[in-house]
Amino acid sequence: MNRLYTGGKKSISFDKSFSTKIIFSEPDKYRLLEQVSQKSEKIINMGANLSYSPLGFCRDSLSINIKHFDRIIEFNKDKKIITVEAGLTLIDFLNFTLKHNLWIPQLPGYPTISIGGAVAANVHGKSCAIHGTIRKSIESILLFHKNHGWLNLSESENKEIFDLTVGGLGLTGTIVSVTFNLANIESSKFITQKKEVDSIKDSKEIILNKSKDLSFIYTWNRADNLKNFGKGFVYKNQITESPSTFENFKEVKNKFKPFLIPLWNKYSINIVNTLYLKINQLSKSKYKDDFLNVIFPFYGKENYFNFFGKKGFLESQLLIDETKLEPFIEEFKSLFQKYEPTITLFSLKNMSGKQKFLRFEDDKICLTFDLVNNKKNLLFMSKIDSLYIKYNILPSIIKDSRISKETLNNTYKDEFIKFKDQLYNFDKKRVYQSEMSNRMEI
Ligand SMILES: Cc1cc2nc3c(=O)[nH]c(=O)nc-3n(C[C@H](O)[C@H](O)[C@H](O)COP(=O)(O)OP(=O)(O)OC[C@H]3O[C@@H](n4cnc5c(N)ncnc54)[C@H](O)[C@@H]3O)c2cc1C
Repeated sequence: MNRLYTGGKKSISFDKSFSTKIIFSEPDKYRLLEQVSQKSEKIINMGANLSYSPLGFCRDSLSINIKHFDRIIEFNKDKKIITVEAGLTLIDFLNFTLKHNLWIPQLPGYPTISIGGAVAANVHGKSCAIHGTIRKSIESILLFHKNHGWLNLSESENKEIFDLTVGGLGLTGTIVSVTFNLANIESSKFITQKKEVDSIKDSKEIILNKSKDLSFIYTWNRADNLKNFGKGFVYKNQITESPSTFENFKEVKNKFKPFLIPLWNKYSINIVNTLYLKINQLSKSKYKDDFLNVIFPFYGKENYFNFFGKKGFLESQLLIDETKLEPFIEEFKSLFQKYEPTITLFSLKNMSGKQKFLRFEDDKICLTFDLVNNKKNLLFMSKIDSLYIKYNILPSIIKDSRISKETLNNTYKDEFIKFKDQLYNFDKKRVYQSEMSNRMEI
């Protein structure tokens, strides 16, 4: 079957903040990818469309989705190297590598995310304090660009474009395949330990301290009212030492279907958080845990997102220096007192890496929080935005669709300018454009 054009449809961002009519194509042959790219003036690549902000589509432009390019092209067990097509989902990737006790540890939190989307967003997983972002596992990329054709990208070939493409938000062309350096994983079973905490300060100290061992450390903190602010748990997931045989994960499907009426409000959040805290206090502090549960924490818990309803939600994911976290939280709390936002989730983890271009990575603490999408919370968030310069904060573009050119100028600073200049240098016509890249004036 010819899958050159599949037609027009409405596309909506995962956070539900933006929707528009798009033209889309799902080529299933490299020749068709070339043809469809040649025919279009304005293109953007789309993976599983699981980015919170509208990064994989653009009004009236062509979204190319290469989900049919999902083969494993080459695998060398001895050298621990694999080449896969970029339409492959993470779960299908793992179904192959885990059988050989191999994987990449930088896995974002949902199994149907595509390899292309993960690379273009330079994703990270729960163990980013030790493993950094997916950039660390990439050996090379095969890219197709409408005007430059087929390009091999690596540290030794087209290095500048390689650098622009990892975390380049699909703006350098279509990532067709990726070669990864794999890491050993002895078992696909985990042991989870949890420790109760009373404050953000306690949480920070534990995650900084524990991030040195080879585990996955992150927190869940209450932020539904000031009285309980910061109470919660620090979790630590550790791979078990005894080797286990791996059986394929069953087929997984996106289960995101927003409810007609939003169910999250300050009362329901308070009830759910109180119950969650109590259940955690009463249950064992150390227990066996499942791979899917640890690596893809939202899989099977999609109703968390569905409860926001059709108006969706806001997420802010920020990188902040450990010395600035506490003063920032104090200001956060005073704004909280004034604007009474409805926060559904608040979590910390530690991250490692070196910030460059638009990549969300650094040797900093990563703070994530979600809010119900309403006017009051948008006002609260605009006040939080005004603290970015003071605390030298870096916000995530894939998580926050409110990000503007001004915010990027204030936070990514020279790296934003460098990314833009080098991208224009590579592609003077700026063929690949998304709703977000237009908003950011890239
Ligand atoms: C429940 C949930 C949990 C998540 N957890 C995490 C997490 O823990 N850590 C984290 O870092 N992220 C996380 N994310 C975000 C997610 O990893 C990224 O947004 C990722 O980019 C989504 O991939 P996708 O396949 O859906 O791509 P899309 O959202 O469709 O696209 C994302 C970007 O990649 C580009 N792109 C996609 N495919 C290609 C291609 N073949 N060639 C070139 N460019 C391409 C697009 O143009 C776009 O800029 C989570 C998302 C969800 C929904």
